Amino acid sequence: MRVPRSRSQRKVYVKTPGGKTTIHYRYKKHKFAKCANCGSTLKGVPNKRPNEMKKLPKTKKRPSRPHPHLCSQCMRKGIIKEARKND
Ligand SMILES: [Zn+2]
Repeated sequence: MRVPRSRSQRKVYVKTPGGKTTIHYRYKKHKFAKCANCGSTLKGVPNKRPNEMKKLPKTKKRPSRPHPHLCSQCMRKGIIKEARKND
């Protein structure tokens, strides 16, 4: 059985048809992208491993609106703040 040398994979206990319980190693889930202002999870940004993210087109990696690193509420507040500053 292949045992990983690093902690990048997690253990999963799997019951085989013969009744034995064996350990399988699966990659850990990635954390969701966070808003740079409030820290809430960003919608429309997948949480995949870097090699899977590389295969995705750019349009599927971030929302197509201004300030994609902010959540929609923070973006809205920021835009209003900027507009009021100019007056
Ligand atoms: Zn936010």
